Amino acid sequence: MSGITGPRIILHCDLDAFYPSCEIKRNPSFAGKPLIVGADPKGGHGRGVVMSCSYEARKFGVRSGMPISQAYKLCPQGEYVRPDFELYGETSDRAMEVLRKFADKFEQTSIDEAYMDVSVRCKSFDEAIDHARKVKAELKTAEGLTVSVGVAPNKSIAKMASDMNKPDGLTTVKPEEVRTFLEPLSVNKISGVGKKTTEFLQEQGIQTIGQLSQIPAKKLTDWLGKGGVWLWGIANGIEEAPVEERGLRKSISVEQTFERDVQNKQVVLEALESLVQEVHERLLAERLRFRTVSIKVRFEGFQTFTREKTHTGYVDDQDVVREYVHHLFREFEKDRRRIRLVGAKLSDLKPAEGKQARLG
Ligand SMILES: [Mg+2]
Repeated sequence: MSGITGPRIILHCDLDAFYPSCEIKRNPSFAGKPLIVGADPKGGHGRGVVMSCSYEARKFGVRSGMPISQAYKLCPQGEYVRPDFELYGETSDRAMEVLRKFADKFEQTSIDEAYMDVSVRCKSFDEAIDHARKVKAELKTAEGLTVSVGVAPNKSIAKMASDMNKPDGLTTVKPEEVRTFLEPLSVNKISGVGKKTTEFLQEQGIQTIGQLSQIPAKKLTDWLGKGGVWLWGIANGIEEAPVEERGLRKSISVEQTFERDVQNKQVVLEALESLVQEVHERLLAERLRFRTVSIKVRFEGFQTFTREKTHTGYVDDQDVVREYVHHLFREFEKDRRRIRLVGAKLSDLKPAEGKQARLG
């Protein structure tokens, strides 16, 4: 490739405690306090979980995804706020615009994370470290936000590195440091290695990425199929996946698996209500509109059905999601079989007005 004479250098940027940070920006009196964004701890609606919390709240043991009632027990003195996805979406758009200016190639992967390829503008890792410092300073000045940055020869290592020293971290893994960096890390530090794969690998006696790197690719493929080759590459520090500007996300889906197969339709309807709220929150967070709603219903014995319904125009109303989900579920309401899993999905997505104007 022309223009690149030095090493491949990738930055992964992860905005720190993003939702709480947006809230603190708007209301500085929250600064330094345990701040929890999520359901109302005193309200009894929905599933009620912590969506995100400040580092001060984490000191009390509060974590994202935790039931809000549990968070309240751990930290009754905390400040509890309901999420404001308009605010987070707008703040994210501006922060990403700042980051984009510092990249040769830019790939936003969520509301608060992005990869940047800086191989052309930085000829060495030392230059890239300086560059990362500038990125952090600029974001602080422009948006008052801190970001943790990983600097590495590829995306998977950059992502693990950005997670090492949060908040406000800057962690560099030079090519010659890749092996020593990866070796002691637990396999679940690899983005894309979930609970199931981690448990499976542990059953094979593999805890660390170092141990994983010793397993022949052939064996990993026998165990995990196609994903085995990918995993072998990651564990050995070999990953070529390019930083690519993403097209628009195609769908947003959420699922709930019941601990025990459920026959009581009231329980299923409650789960569907949580899914409606969750998928709608994600839609707003990503500043999108949708046209199609689908549901997934899996019965005991793994028989699975999906049904979908398309709206005439693009909307972002929670009521439309709810109405369509209920309409689609009606077909299964009288079914006597036990249900194992339900899911909801929004597709045919399009940017909400503000974002479209900015991208255009
Ligand atoms: Mg983050």
